[in-house]
Amino acid sequence: MPKIIKRDGHTHTHYCLHASGEHAEEYVRRAIEKGFTMYSFTEHLPFPDSFWSFFPYSEGTKRQLGLRDNDLDGYFREMYALKKKYRDRIELKVGLEIDFLPTETAYLRRMLKEYGKFLEDGLLSVHIIEGCGGFRCVDVSPADFEEGVIKHYGSYEEAQKAYFQTVKEALRTDLGPYKPKRIGHFTLCNKFQCYFGQEGKMSEATRNLVVDLLKEMKEQGYSLDVNVAGLFKEYCREIYLSPWIVQAAKQLGIPLVYGSDAHASSQVGRAYEEYEQIVGEKNGES
Ligand SMILES: [Zn+2]
Ligand SMILES: [Zn+2]
Repeated sequence: MPKIIKRDGHTHTHYCLHASGEHAEEYVRRAIEKGFTMYSFTEHLPFPDSFWSFFPYSEGTKRQLGLRDNDLDGYFREMYALKKKYRDRIELKVGLEIDFLPTETAYLRRMLKEYGKFLEDGLLSVHIIEGCGGFRCVDVSPADFEEGVIKHYGSYEEAQKAYFQTVKEALRTDLGPYKPKRIGHFTLCNKFQCYFGQEGKMSEATRNLVVDLLKEMKEQGYSLDVNVAGLFKEYCREIYLSPWIVQAAKQLGIPLVYGSDAHASSQVGRAYEEYEQIVGEKNGES
């Protein structure tokens, strides 16, 4: 009988300065307790110094987006040590979540070239798009999204489109052979949808854009992070990959990978049953 795979493909560690601070080993123990057989460390790649001048946020916010001690080598060393320590109990994959920044592709290429050989898994995510005063996060707060993004584009719908256009650019940008092949939380732009009365709403034009992007992902051999974090966000209340997109992706045969996006050990494996229900598969993945 084939071994059943239960995988958490999106997690953070004590290297993340906006996570709980618990050691990655605590997360791994929780994954084992919950019966996971495969688990990816996907820590955020730190931002380059050149980026900060285009990022109109407080020093505190900037610091929180950094990596502890800016020690990427230490991250890889520690995660590989855990991989070895737990190899008989769970398959640990060492990876990164790469934040696509359209103006920093040279930096991304350079980092992927340098660290690519250590990457066993990876996510390509968009959290930040062009907005008022430079680059703005789409996931900080409703007020920040309104001021920085919606006002810049003129409407919620146009902001949504701009987000997906940035994902399109991420898909089409050459980042070298180690570019991650899984798109993280593809509908993160909907994090505050309920706050703006937009839940479940997407114009036909935006839907068409999303479907075109899915086709492009399929052609390029991408998979998708089915990220349950959105279920726990007050103003989102749905997974990232709105359920209709899950169905469209399934129809196209795009592999779907569960992601808890855990920033605390208690979040590892959260809402896995809901994921199975939405994806319509028991104990497995494509
Ligand atoms: Zn994070
Ligand atoms: Zn993310």
